[in-house]
Amino acid sequence: MTFRASVLTLYPEMFPGPLGLSLAGRGLREGRWSLDAVQIRDFATDKHRSVDDTPAGGGAGMVLRADVLAAACDSVGYDRPMLAMSPRGRPLTQARVRDLAAGPGVSILCGRFEGFDERLFEARAIEPVSIGDYILSGGEMAALTLLDACVRLLPGVMGAASSGDDESFESGLLEYPQYTRPVTWEGRTIPEVLRSGDHARIAAWRHATAETDTRLRRPDLWERHTGVRVQSPSGARRNDWDEDT
Ligand code: SAH
Repeated sequence: MTFRASVLTLYPEMFPGPLGLSLAGRGLREGRWSLDAVQIRDFATDKHRSVDDTPAGGGAGMVLRADVLAAACDSVGYDRPMLAMSPRGRPLTQARVRDLAAGPGVSILCGRFEGFDERLFEARAIEPVSIGDYILSGGEMAALTLLDACVRLLPGVMGAASSGDDESFESGLLEYPQYTRPVTWEGRTIPEVLRSGDHARIAAWRHATAETDTRLRRPDLWERHTGVRVQSPSGARRNDWDEDT
């Protein structure tokens, strides 16, 4: 079964872009997944082929029109989940990526300017999805990100490498740290346990470091994983990356 991706965008030339290279690109050429980029502007109806208009209530920028977007989405159909990339959407997770990758494919609507007329989400089964708490200039790179995450999980795309359960987030924890040769670099030596050949000790070390790193770097993940709230002495510091204040 081929995983079918359709992307609705004002910039179809951005696809497959980076997904035409490396393992995703090989998977595309081998027919393990397909990609179809639809030009939203083809569904404009006025003589200027306009896709956007000024925001109701005033303010800067332009808003994508619900009528044009709905016509574009209807042309693709709703036999697969239809997502709209939006910072107002539900944050994407590895669990959601797994669900999507196990299904027939996905359709992805890419915003530009100030985003979508909200009535689109009332009138059609379209789910807003965010890739994180920052603002991009358009949904295309968010769509590429989501597709990359899905495609690497498809059978045959990554081969034996790494679609495994060790990766960060698969267990609800960050992955343990990795090392490779040279054994000594700038005076720093790979942890002895990893060179011991003792598989039980290695597994125990990896599990312990995954837990410690998750607790220190991502107290939000740790809390979800264990149900235990991480107490920080200062109370102000949210995770290991934040500056002390
Ligand atoms: N005015 C909007 C942002 C528009 S950014 C707001 O403040 O909510 C323009 C487009 O880029 C969006 O419509 C969306 O498709 C895409 N985009 C920007 N940031 C994104 C994010 N974090 N996740 C997913 N898509 C994003």
